[in-house]
Amino acid sequence: MTTHDVVILGSGPAGLAAAAELKRLGVRDVVVIEREQQAGGVPRHCGHLGFGWKEFRRVLSGPSYAKRLVQAAAGIDVRTGTTALSLEPGGHVRIVSPEGQATITGRRVLLALGTRETPRSARLVSGSRPWGVFTTGALQQLVYLAQVQPCKRAVIVGTEFVSFSNLLTMRHAGIKPVAMIEPGDHVMAPSPGDWIARIAFATRVLTRTRVVAVHGTRTVTGVEIEREGERSVLACDGVVFTGKFVPETAIVKVSHLALDTGTGGPVVDQYGRCSDPDYFVAGNLLRPVEASWTAWGEGRAVAHAIAASLHGALPAATHLITLEAQSPVRYVCPQRLAAPAPLPAALPFNARMGHTAHGRLRVLAGKRVVWNEERRFLPERRIDLPFDTKHLGGTASLTVDFAESTRP
Ligand SMILES: Cc1cc2nc3c(=O)[nH]c(=O)nc-3n(C[C@H](O)[C@H](O)[C@H](O)COP(=O)(O)OP(=O)(O)OC[C@H]3O[C@@H](n4cnc5c(N)ncnc54)[C@H](O)[C@@H]3O)c2cc1C
Repeated sequence: MTTHDVVILGSGPAGLAAAAELKRLGVRDVVVIEREQQAGGVPRHCGHLGFGWKEFRRVLSGPSYAKRLVQAAAGIDVRTGTTALSLEPGGHVRIVSPEGQATITGRRVLLALGTRETPRSARLVSGSRPWGVFTTGALQQLVYLAQVQPCKRAVIVGTEFVSFSNLLTMRHAGIKPVAMIEPGDHVMAPSPGDWIARIAFATRVLTRTRVVAVHGTRTVTGVEIEREGERSVLACDGVVFTGKFVPETAIVKVSHLALDTGTGGPVVDQYGRCSDPDYFVAGNLLRPVEASWTAWGEGRAVAHAIAASLHGALPAATHLITLEAQSPVRYVCPQRLAAPAPLPAALPFNARMGHTAHGRLRVLAGKRVVWNEERRFLPERRIDLPFDTKHLGGTASLTVDFAESTRP
């Protein structure tokens, strides 16, 4: 069993940013554990542009961005092809690699395991099980990493931001998008996503439409949809289930760490510290789902909290104020505030709505309003809650609630 100052699980933007920042802060004994053969996380297979501006002042493709992240963490012990299997109190992590199973111990452990999309199996779509059913991530890996064209005509299920990146992946691979399917009455991604699909990619966007079944025996031959009570079949040889992100909590669920039902990720305080103070979280494991630059920023910020914790300078998690989200607020993150809060928060408090609504969002300490804002809130957009944490010492809990406006 080996012991290190910090063990980081996951080498995406959050994990590698934390590793680079810990190195900069003088914490030298850091090990990164990554189950894939290469470090870099999700951006490794996002072949499109749009990464890196905040971090490196460059507009980069996902793979180039991943390379820059790896370069920035040069000198850190990054162990690829190694999977974390379980988490134990005391910072003990069970891992498996081609050399076999072992336990690695961190005086602090950073969980940066990211997020994943909900696959078909968890969406209760009936029909057969032919080849040609993918998630965005699976399609990207086939197209950009394995360089194959897995189908020729595909239906995209979902209209979140990530759903639209499939149009770019498909263009790159010469796959024709047949249609985008959305059960809600409008596109989930903020405009101009809808416009891009319709005009730039000549793709139909079918709102108020549900995928009922996948057809085909060996390969997909069509997708059965239901629209305004009518059923029909869209002919295609591929279907991509996109979005509906969930944090990658497979090993956290079976650990001693507390999970939050709203985010689906671990419960953390403003320093990214878990219910076991030896464990910290950064990136999209915190909640679904933010862009790469947010995960990167969280990795850096939480590295400061970890360094402070190693030096005994992080306030003890003795008085914890709980934050609770009331429907239709889907979640609030972090869910705990360690008080008093002398150090700047590593993670700014933020929330998400369950559906689009116009009204007033409030943070309440008992009956006292500590922050509020009235406007239109979209479920796809992060809502920052910049309330003042200084004078909340005697408070036991904070509530985040929402009152719908009577205005149209
Ligand atoms: C399919 C898909 C497409 C996306 N497209 C974009 C995009 O175009 N632009 C954008 O800004 N964001 C995109 N995102 C959001 C993406 O999550 C962030 O960009 C960013 O990658 C989050 O960084 P992270 O470090 O939190 O997690 P990740 O990048 O997901 O990294 C987590 C790492 O942890 C590793 N890991 C997980 N479990 C284990 C384990 N048990 N043991 C060891 N290692 C483990 C994973 O292999 C992975 O390398 C996309 C997400 C997905 C899923």
